[in-house]
Order: sequence, then structure tokens, then C-alpha cells
Amino acid sequence: MERTPIIAANWKMHKTIPEAVSFTREILNPLDFSGTDVVLCPPFPALWPVAQAASGTPLQVAAQDVYWADQGAFTGEVSPVMLRDAGCTYVVIGHSERRHLFGETDENVNRKVKAALRHGLTPIVCVGETLAERDAGETFKVVEKQLAAALLGLDGEEAAGLVVAYEPVWAIGTGRNAAPEDAQAVNHFVREFVRSRYRPEVAEQVRIQYGGSVTPENAELLLAQPDIDGALVGGASLKVESFRAIVYAAQRL
Ligand code: PEP
Repeated sequence: MERTPIIAANWKMHKTIPEAVSFTREILNPLDFSGTDVVLCPPFPALWPVAQAASGTPLQVAAQDVYWADQGAFTGEVSPVMLRDAGCTYVVIGHSERRHLFGETDENVNRKVKAALRHGLTPIVCVGETLAERDAGETFKVVEKQLAAALLGLDGEEAAGLVVAYEPVWAIGTGRNAAPEDAQAVNHFVREFVRSRYRPEVAEQVRIQYGGSVTPENAELLLAQPDIDGALVGGASLKVESFRAIVYAAQRL
């Protein structure tokens, strides 16, 4: 089955509103979207301005996190209702920085995934092992545990619509990307895990990105792997030219 590649720019805690809007205008001028989904993930204050700048184009907007309640006394949190209101169609959930710096648990990830789906947001669910876990030969075990928790209680239709991002923690922001065949092995494992829980079509539909030091130089080889359906890009997404080059690398395949 043909899956549309999805290339997402995770800006993390970078870019003011004017910087985010000018990036958005620049990337759109020009950006060939043929056969690719392109998503920008700005910090919260820039969501609405970026969504406005992208309005009427295929460019989509994602938040970098979400809380699971619709509203209430949760100081500092942002609800899925608010993200929809701000123009988001996607949301990154369980990024390793949230798991490791802010204590995000597998259970929280699952609550956030369900809340996002309830409000029509497509979750980009991040999973991945640390260097110590990889060295201990625990990569598949860790990814399976994170994935099983994230998918808990989801039906086949919901699972099929998800985006999973395999992001080995040791490759994020380090300049050290996973070898394409190693990333492929884990992405394939993710797909087979989904196949073990749902109908085969669900596994064929779910899109699985790779993330971790993706650059214009290594994107093509990574994206050429049969189970890598796109990239979640941090550092290389901050500059228009390098992010555009990664989108075009996906289109050359
Ligand atoms: C990320 O933040 O999800 C990421 C993959 O970062 P980088 O591309 O900088 O490694």
C-alpha cells in the first residue's frame, strides 16, 4: 500500500512569532507538496500565527504537546480543544525530551493520544530507546513497551490514522543518526507490532517516521527504507533551505 510520506519540523523551544511567520511564508514560496504531507510544529505562542500564514495551503500545523482534559484548573497546560482552535491538525506526543526532562509517563502518553483523537487531532507518537538501553540490547523491548502503552484502548481505525515517530534518544540533536538499516529494523518492528494487535490493513496504513539527526545529506537513504514513511526533524528544520531539501528528498523516492 502507498503511504503518503510525512515530513514534520519540530522547532522545540525555538523561534519567536515573527521568526516563525517569516519561516512559514518563506517555505511556502515555493514548496512543492506533491505526494507529501508537510507539518510545522512551532512552540505554543506561534501556533495560531503560523496557522494563519499557512491558511489556504496544504501546510499543516502541529503542537509539540497537549494535555488530556478539555478545560479546567490545570495551570500551564493546553487542551486539545485549544489546539484545534489555534489551527492545529496534528500534535506531537511523548517526545523524548518530554519523557526524559519532564517526567512524561507511558500512561500520560496514552491519555494524551486518546484526547487528541477525541478532538480530531492526529497524534505523532514518539518512541525510542536511550543509548544505555540500546547498549543493553533492549531497543525492541523498550519500543514495544512504549508503543503498547500508547495504543492501549485504541480501535483499528484510530490506530491506522496515527503517525508513530521512532526516535532513538541517542540520535536526537547529536548529529549521530541511526544507520538506515537499523532505523528500518525498528520501524519494521513497529509495523509488525501494530499487525499483531490489529487487522493487517491497519499495519499497512499506519505511518512510521524516523527522527534523530535527519539532515538533507542523510534524508534520502533513510526515507528510502520500506518502513520509513517520513521524518521528524529537529535541528535541520530550523532553516528553510535544509527543511525544504528534506521535503524534496522524500519526493524523489
Ligand atoms: C527531534 O527533536 O525530534 C529531533 C529528531 O531532533 P534532531 O533532528 O535535531 O535530532
